[in-house]
Amino acid sequence: MDDQQLLRYARHILLDEFGIEAQERLLAARVLIVGAGGLGSPAAFYMASSGVGHIVLADDDEVDLGNLQRQILHTSDRIGKFKAESGKQTLAALNPEVRVQALVRRLDDHDLAEQVAAADLVLDCCDNFATRHAVNRACVAQRKPLVSGAAIRFAGQISVFDLRHDDAPCYHCLFPEADDVEELRCATTGVLAPLVGIVGSTQAAEAIKVLTGIGEPLVGRMLCLDALTMQWNTIRFKRDPACPVCAHRSEGHRSADRSNGCHRSGDRSNGCHPDAQSDAGPIAVSRQS
Ligand SMILES: [Zn+2]
Repeated sequence: MDDQQLLRYARHILLDEFGIEAQERLLAARVLIVGAGGLGSPAAFYMASSGVGHIVLADDDEVDLGNLQRQILHTSDRIGKFKAESGKQTLAALNPEVRVQALVRRLDDHDLAEQVAAADLVLDCCDNFATRHAVNRACVAQRKPLVSGAAIRFAGQISVFDLRHDDAPCYHCLFPEADDVEELRCATTGVLAPLVGIVGSTQAAEAIKVLTGIGEPLVGRMLCLDALTMQWNTIRFKRDPACPVCAHRSEGHRSADRSNGCHRSGDRSNGCHPDAQSDAGPIAVSRQS
């Protein structure tokens, strides 16, 4: 690390848990951010400002006026430009040391396999279930940690699926793929602008913890926020031993029956439901803008 880097990252390095070693791990890390919208914006901002060395930002969409209320990577003069390119421009201005790669396309399974394999960690900041499940499958296959976030209306959710570990649940363990799930999207449903900032920033914090090995990431826990009351609840969940996506990972390390593994505290006003694996409640709010 040179003198400029020591200055730039001094407030990380000053942290006892962090120090120079953790900062160097960030500088050497490569992350894939799927989606440069409401969640991807704050997540990418903090990945870049924190000095994550290589950021791949994937989004096939273009900036429009209705995005600017919450998608803070983009500016009014970039309406009509690709979000991935706009995001790259913003991040380069914030921290020119960070290498940012813009992928202007919706990642298919081949792209995902390639990009997830090359990444140290994946941030799922997308806006649809098909992509969420595709990203999860790629992270399971490549055994890469996945930091997942969702926000709709006034409800937010964050969890970490650390698929490097045999007993860690995957996204599908918590939200099984189903054809009859209602897909709510911010584009048509509405979302409180700072909510995506809170959720995306929390994703960034969890990503930094996983990349540096500090603290306890949200593995086996899902944080649920009701922004109307500003109340946070936690759902605990375990790996589903029958999960068709991740069950093959290790036959010898299956965790306990999932019916014992899922409980939550607090009330259900924020859309979190105690039986997260069978109820449509959290699925219906597991959306991003
Ligand atoms: Zn699973």
